[in-house]
Amino acid sequence: MADRLNSEIAIIGGGWAGLAAAVTLADAGKHVHLFESAKQLGGRSRSVNWDGLTIDNGQHLMAGAYRQTFALMDRLDTLGLLERRRLDLRGPGFQLTLPKLPAPFHLVAGLISARGLSLADKWAAVRFMQALKRRHFRLDHDITASTLLATYLQPGELVDRLWEPICVAALNTPLAMASAQVFCNVLRDSLAGAREDSDFLFNRSAMGRLLPEAAQRFLTERGSSVQLSSRVDGLRLEDGRFILGGPDAVSDRLIIATHPSQTPALLAGVDAAAAIAAKLRQFSWQPIFTLYLRFASPIAFPYPMLALDHGAAFWAFERNDLAPGLVAIVASAEGPHLQQTPESLRDELLQKLATDLGPLPPLLNWKAINEKRATFACTPNLDRPGNATPVPGLYLAGDYTAGDYPATLEGAVRSGVECARLILERT
Ligand SMILES: Cc1cc2nc3c(=O)[nH]c(=O)nc-3n(C[C@H](O)[C@H](O)[C@H](O)COP(=O)(O)OP(=O)(O)OC[C@H]3O[C@@H](n4cnc5c(N)ncnc54)[C@H](O)[C@@H]3O)c2cc1C
Repeated sequence: MADRLNSEIAIIGGGWAGLAAAVTLADAGKHVHLFESAKQLGGRSRSVNWDGLTIDNGQHLMAGAYRQTFALMDRLDTLGLLERRRLDLRGPGFQLTLPKLPAPFHLVAGLISARGLSLADKWAAVRFMQALKRRHFRLDHDITASTLLATYLQPGELVDRLWEPICVAALNTPLAMASAQVFCNVLRDSLAGAREDSDFLFNRSAMGRLLPEAAQRFLTERGSSVQLSSRVDGLRLEDGRFILGGPDAVSDRLIIATHPSQTPALLAGVDAAAAIAAKLRQFSWQPIFTLYLRFASPIAFPYPMLALDHGAAFWAFERNDLAPGLVAIVASAEGPHLQQTPESLRDELLQKLATDLGPLPPLLNWKAINEKRATFACTPNLDRPGNATPVPGLYLAGDYTAGDYPATLEGAVRSGVECARLILERT
């Protein structure tokens, strides 16, 4: 016991949720000990090395409504690494741009002037948004997003071009499986929110610089510790304190901020948390696939993000900020693309990119990254655990905890800030 690391607050997991909790606590004068099993911080939103280049583990995009994420980045002085642009969804034969008008006129004007939708589609979209607004975006019972759209008689072309791309990108879950309530929450806070809430924010630097590296500096400068390559492999309660196996630490308060698939194993040593572990075992997962293409020279994009096909299964991002000539193509959720070999998918996507942008410079190199458990499947009526637990002193942070949002950076940050708030309120 004498050699054990003794702390008031410990955090397991240095993804965006764990880091948000740690920074908020350190900012309030607390000393925390954060244990991260990987060699670097960031979890599912981190930098990786590829042939001497620093790239992201997957292409990310933020929405103007990510208020707590921006507040945290502002505190860490990294907000300037984001580029804010008005929403502009572009793809073959389609464009939806939201003009600089106050809400809700920006949306109505944007829909009415959208390219590639019939007049009937446009009015159906406006009527749908108005109907949801009248219900305050609350459904009596959760159903699938596809059932919701069918109930509101949304035409197939409109679903393919607008609603499905938004739903799949935001919830990372196919329309036929996705929670209509969470889809409504996303529409409420983006298209139906304040005009700037619908903006897109593009990272103009590797994900690691946006939060993880700055958070690590912030924590160590304030006397907190961050231990990398430090896996907590077991947890038990002794006299009301948490004993962490692996780093051999003891703590009065503990935030578990691991991936939801890893949390049940840690909770196994805490009887009173068995119901939470059982809930999490019911979750299922959805992948995100990113293909990086490195061209010999930069490619001019008309907007930093382009849909590569009609149903917007693939979005291409210009990433000259990471390396000149770098393009990232991302596909959310499960789909037929995952049955293809990486080589055939690469060739198909090169073809689509050339169709959109014209002849491409020579391809120097490429890399495919498929994150198999990128997010939980955001299905109807998912029973997501809260941040407080029945065990005094034990908290859960992560994009999967109860909240309005699907698995997103903002969901992760909100959960971490909320855990910190609960701890500060109770000390
Ligand atoms: C490819 C991809 C693209 C995405 N795109 C977007 C996007 O465009 N916009 C958006 O908002 N969101 C996006 N997301 C989702 C977003 O990245 C996640 O919601 C968020 O990063 C989750 O953070 P977290 O802290 O909850 O969990 P995690 O990032 O999973 O963090 C958990 C951490 O705990 C550590 N850990 C686990 N077990 C242990 C242990 N026993 N001991 C110590 N440490 C442990 C892990 O190593 C990890 O660092 C994307 C995700 C992926 C994978």
